[in-house]
Amino acid sequence: MTNPTNPTYRILSLGAGVQSTTLLALSAEGSLPRIDYAIFADTGWEPKGVYEHLERIEREIAEPAGIPILRVATGNIRNDALDPKHRFASMPLYILNKDGRPGMTRRQCTGEYKIKPIKKQVRDILGHPYPQRIPKGVFVEQWVGISRDEFHRAKDADVAYMHNRHPLIVDMDWSRADCTAYLQSRGLADTPKSSCLGCPFHGNQQWRNIRDHSPEEWADVVAFDAAIRAGNAPANASGNPLLGQAFLHRSRVPLDQAPIDHITAREWAQRQAALDTKAPGEPLKELEDGVTDGCSPWTCRGDEPQHGQDDFGLTA
Ligand code: SF4
Repeated sequence: MTNPTNPTYRILSLGAGVQSTTLLALSAEGSLPRIDYAIFADTGWEPKGVYEHLERIEREIAEPAGIPILRVATGNIRNDALDPKHRFASMPLYILNKDGRPGMTRRQCTGEYKIKPIKKQVRDILGHPYPQRIPKGVFVEQWVGISRDEFHRAKDADVAYMHNRHPLIVDMDWSRADCTAYLQSRGLADTPKSSCLGCPFHGNQQWRNIRDHSPEEWADVVAFDAAIRAGNAPANASGNPLLGQAFLHRSRVPLDQAPIDHITAREWAQRQAALDTKAPGEPLKELEDGVTDGCSPWTCRGDEPQHGQDDFGLTA
């Protein structure tokens, strides 16, 4: 009989960024309990450096320790946005409405391209694919890479068959800097941030990094930015065109002209106005660095769990 306090499997949600790479390495070397699987949700549009890093940690860390890395996907976020025939879960694009008001499109991509395929894989691992009912007490312990400095982002999963655990906080009491130092000591100082190449949550530093070090990827994101100006292709094809213009950069300026080399006077002024009114403003650090740990499926900004719903948005 299944013990309701013991997980059937222990898995790692592997984004291949700093924190989740740290967890994989700590488990592989025995400093933390052994995980049964690491799951990487591939949106199809990660930077080249992330795919290279993933292959390296698989070869050098996971395989020698006998930890399978499972790659899961529901599509290719870039291609799907530009394919009029494909249903598309929208990215958080910056909008300039016809009357000049700024807005943002609703972010559905994390749920669609990351959370959904991970849940599907977990159900398969547990031997109860959708829509089978998962017996009470059958669950995975899912490790999520959140460090001490980000404890406020720790959340539980929204389904009974996944229990989130945050070993960097509860077992290690490590900050992101501790993780970075640890990775450095293991020859992994160049661990990248993981997120889609053209994620609108990038800070200026990430955009500059692509522009200055990867001309092909820069051309790719600039072309994508231009291609989504009138909205995504599936929405336009279905008769729901965007009533304005869409941009990847928060300045709502075409990416190849956007102010990514400095914080603009307007951004300083907006920040000051937010401080004056005690409104939640965007910290200047975030303008430069973007979302702290890229787009982790279980901590992604704004993605509140849909309690009472199962993997496919249906009521459990
Ligand atoms: S990295 Fe950005 S674009 Fe990609 S899934 Fe996450 S929020 Fe969406």
